[in-house]
Amino acid sequence: MIIALDGPSAAGKGTLARRLAAHYGLAHLDTGSLYRAVGGRVLREGGDPGDAAHAVAAAAALTEEDRLAGDLRSEAVGQAASKVAAIPQVRAKLLEFQRDFARNPPGGAAGAILDGRDIGTVICPEADVKLFLTASLEARAERRFRELQAAGAAPIKRAVLEEMTLRDRRDSERQTAPLMPAHDAFVLDTSALDADQVFAAAVEHVSERMRSRRA
Ligand code: C5P
Repeated sequence: MIIALDGPSAAGKGTLARRLAAHYGLAHLDTGSLYRAVGGRVLREGGDPGDAAHAVAAAAALTEEDRLAGDLRSEAVGQAASKVAAIPQVRAKLLEFQRDFARNPPGGAAGAILDGRDIGTVICPEADVKLFLTASLEARAERRFRELQAAGAAPIKRAVLEEMTLRDRRDSERQTAPLMPAHDAFVLDTSALDADQVFAAAVEHVSERMRSRRA
């Protein structure tokens, strides 16, 4: 079973992907971490993430160390990730790794769940189940604000909102693989739902899809 899970940042994809992976025994790939690794590497090398030649070289040379970098989840690396992600040759470099993960899930898992922006549209258009999580900008910014606070930071609400707006715009307006639901995706607005409710709705949809595919 392959599950494609897409949506904007802070819509709840990461939490849902981990729970679905545990529930169905699937290998999980957070594809955003690949773009973060590329963006972070360019920043560490003192480059500009919008510089295609540098970003492509970083994507080609990516190491395990880049993928485990301590600042991977920082806002600066998130912004750099969305800049390198707009470069078609960077996306092309990361494509086969993602498809191979879906086709041959590591650890003998029964299948894979990949979360990102273009899994249902580009990486795994043949996925058994496609989920698209979304939420209002305000709800997502509020979640991110609380996460940052819980991590001991002192975030400024307006800055969090502005950074999220910027990244949403870059991800949705780019020419290659823009953020959008696949035509056959189940779209779930999580603005007023907690993690348990999102999980329950997703499991119900997955069961329904699997039933109808067997029939
Ligand atoms: O999901 P996360 O916030 O970690 O992703 C960081 C950035 O990587 C996103 O803002 C987006 O630009 C890019 N990305 C992408 N395609 C994916 C996953 C992430 O373009 N499949």
